[in-house]
Amino acid sequence: MVKHPGRLRSGMAIIPDKSPVGRSRDGAAAALRAVGLRLTGPRRLVLEVVRGSDAHPTAETVHQMVRCRLPRVSLGTVYRNLRLLVAQGLVKELPGPQARFDCNLSEHHHFTCLACGRIADVAGPLTERHSRPLVSRVASSGGLSVTHHRIEFYGRCAACRRKGRGRAARRPPS
Ligand SMILES: [Zn+2]
Ligand SMILES: [Zn+2]
Repeated sequence: MVKHPGRLRSGMAIIPDKSPVGRSRDGAAAALRAVGLRLTGPRRLVLEVVRGSDAHPTAETVHQMVRCRLPRVSLGTVYRNLRLLVAQGLVKELPGPQARFDCNLSEHHHFTCLACGRIADVAGPLTERHSRPLVSRVASSGGLSVTHHRIEFYGRCAACRRKGRGRAARRPPS
């Protein structure tokens, strides 16, 4: 047994091995069949990985995770499959400097941690009462019909705030 004491403690792993990935296996295959996509190993794994993560992974992260179970899969294959899943509406893509992928298909807000880059879903009503005047102003400005809008939140996540405080208090010996 190989142990690395102190390294990669909780919070560092991208997704634990016993994630909902296993549970969503049948669901992923069924979803692919439902949209008429051929069921290939990499494709099913890519969908399982994105569905098993609420971390809005990048294509590179999805690639790393798929490679744990399918070591020879290339980033290009993962990327092409992500594109295909987005085109079929099985996965959402978040715009940004680096594309991130989201299994939460409902409209929702996001919180981005500026320290670690983590993106978390923000639960809550999409159109809050106070934003209604804003929506109607946008709509009336050019005869637009607004279906929904999104609010982006930025800041530091709880883990980064804890880390920041710990570092300030005492620095672990390197
Ligand atoms: Zn963070
Ligand atoms: Zn999301």
